[in-house]
Amino acid sequence: MTAFDGVIIGAGHNGLTLAAYLSRAGLKIAVLERNSQVGGGTSTHEPTLPGYRSNMHSNFFMGFDHAPLARDLELHRFGFSTIEPPVQQAAAFRDGSCVIVHKDLEATCTSLARFSQRDADTFRELHHIYADKMRPLLVSLLYNAPLPLDQLNDRLSGPQAREFMSHAEHDLFSVVRKHFVDDRIRTLFTSYMHVITAENVPGAGIVFPAIFSNVMDFALPVGGAVALPLALTRIVEAGSGSVITDAHVEEILTHNGRATGVQLSNGEIIEGQKFVASAIDAVTTMQMTGEAAFPKDVREKLNNWHWGNHSLVTLHLALRERPLYKARDFDPDIDRAFNIFFGMDDINQVEQCFEHCKAGQFPDVLMGNGACNSQVDPSYAPADGHSAFWWPFAPYSVDGAPDNWDQNKAGYVRKILDVWREYASNLDDDNIRAEYLFTPLDVERLNPNMRQGAVRMGAFIPSQLGINRPHPALSGTRCPIEGLYLCGSSSGNGGGVNGAPGYIAANAIVDDFGLTRDWTPVPQPEWRD
Ligand SMILES: Cc1cc2nc3c(=O)[nH]c(=O)nc-3n(C[C@H](O)[C@H](O)[C@H](O)COP(=O)(O)OP(=O)(O)OC[C@H]3O[C@@H](n4cnc5c(N)ncnc54)[C@H](O)[C@@H]3O)c2cc1C
Repeated sequence: MTAFDGVIIGAGHNGLTLAAYLSRAGLKIAVLERNSQVGGGTSTHEPTLPGYRSNMHSNFFMGFDHAPLARDLELHRFGFSTIEPPVQQAAAFRDGSCVIVHKDLEATCTSLARFSQRDADTFRELHHIYADKMRPLLVSLLYNAPLPLDQLNDRLSGPQAREFMSHAEHDLFSVVRKHFVDDRIRTLFTSYMHVITAENVPGAGIVFPAIFSNVMDFALPVGGAVALPLALTRIVEAGSGSVITDAHVEEILTHNGRATGVQLSNGEIIEGQKFVASAIDAVTTMQMTGEAAFPKDVREKLNNWHWGNHSLVTLHLALRERPLYKARDFDPDIDRAFNIFFGMDDINQVEQCFEHCKAGQFPDVLMGNGACNSQVDPSYAPADGHSAFWWPFAPYSVDGAPDNWDQNKAGYVRKILDVWREYASNLDDDNIRAEYLFTPLDVERLNPNMRQGAVRMGAFIPSQLGINRPHPALSGTRCPIEGLYLCGSSSGNGGGVNGAPGYIAANAIVDDFGLTRDWTPVPQPEWRD
């Protein structure tokens, strides 16, 4: 038996964020990872050809500059940095037109104004409100344990706060319709909202301000998404902690109602003298602990957890030359765009794609976003090549069963490539050196906590957001079992690369054990105007 102050299950970026903060607070931490590499949803592999790097999951770090961990943990000193491309996003359409979002606000508005001056003006206004003025509120909402609605309402007052909260009256499509009038601009924003796995249900509109605030804040991690977990690992190891790979946790051990450690699949027991934290999904965490330890309503909710109606199927390509989009004749800036959406021409097609995903059908309208990372950071590919990917939305259970992804792989590659070729004129066979399809089934195989290929460890629907993520009794990352904490994406404002659940758990553990912080916590949310 090996003993540490704390044991953390899973070396994704959230588990490692918690470990890094607590190492700074003087604790001896063990992070246990079942895979041979750290990273989880921030992993980088070379699945096409040696030297062609692909981020298997998170590629777009959204608003990460505003994350307290970037500053508190001095990630740049441990080898992590990002590039924010000047041309951030584009949506290309079959008629050859495209909408471009730049880093520069006026350049973005100029692009939008080619379709609608009113939408360009709205974009400018929303940017001033959400990306500038209300940014501190959005950061404090993300990096503090979610509050019950009545307490939140007490802390937010005035017309702007009311407008902010009024987004909760909308679903995904109506919130975009509320703000924008042009069909192509609406198409871009509904696709963008879906990317973060918001489902089109009443109330989902509440995520709009936070998502909108980052639309011009997309960054690519230099050298690969894995640079983040590697930097965090160095911080843990610079303390007295260990990050142990090939360590599959099977059981969370409790004694007299208190979490005491974990048992690995090889039988080894690792003791957490102060705490055990789980950076995997809440459902598996409950099952590993024993359901009986959780109240009935928690059990019921977690056993009916909604993983999401859609996942992503990624086609990674090793190329001789980068994809060149036909829409460059309309706006040459698409040649420099980082995140590129295509496949959908109007909002009805977006709706249709998600209906098909929900029905477990390979979508007729294949749509989604992708990038050619080596164009932004040449270290993603050898000097004479490029590494690119496109990840259209797709269901986990396709055409009747998840296994169909394995059975019909070649057919799905062809369908995806056919659509990509409609937009990129140079993706012929000569240009493609190698391809690799990473399906929703593969997502689950690589990270079993991403059940059913769940991109966010659980869909963004109102019953799974804020205080409800995963349940009001667990959302502050503390569990009903003493010494057991949640710090993965299904808790504490989690989902996507933001480190929020790890950060919130770190502050809770520091408070619970009376430790000393060398960082200043993000203030509690407050807005009065
Ligand atoms: C295809 C895809 C694309 C995505 N793109 C983006 C994007 O561009 N931008 C973005 O912000 N987000 C994106 N996401 C979401 C993002 O990757 C995740 O939300 C995030 O990485 C989750 O981080 P985490 O630390 O909470 O969990 P994870 O990264 O999943 O970490 C959990 C870790 O626990 C390990 N583990 C599981 N079970 C056990 C066990 N029993 N014992 C020990 N270890 C275990 C896993 O192997 C994993 O390493 C994407 C997700 C997918 C699937």
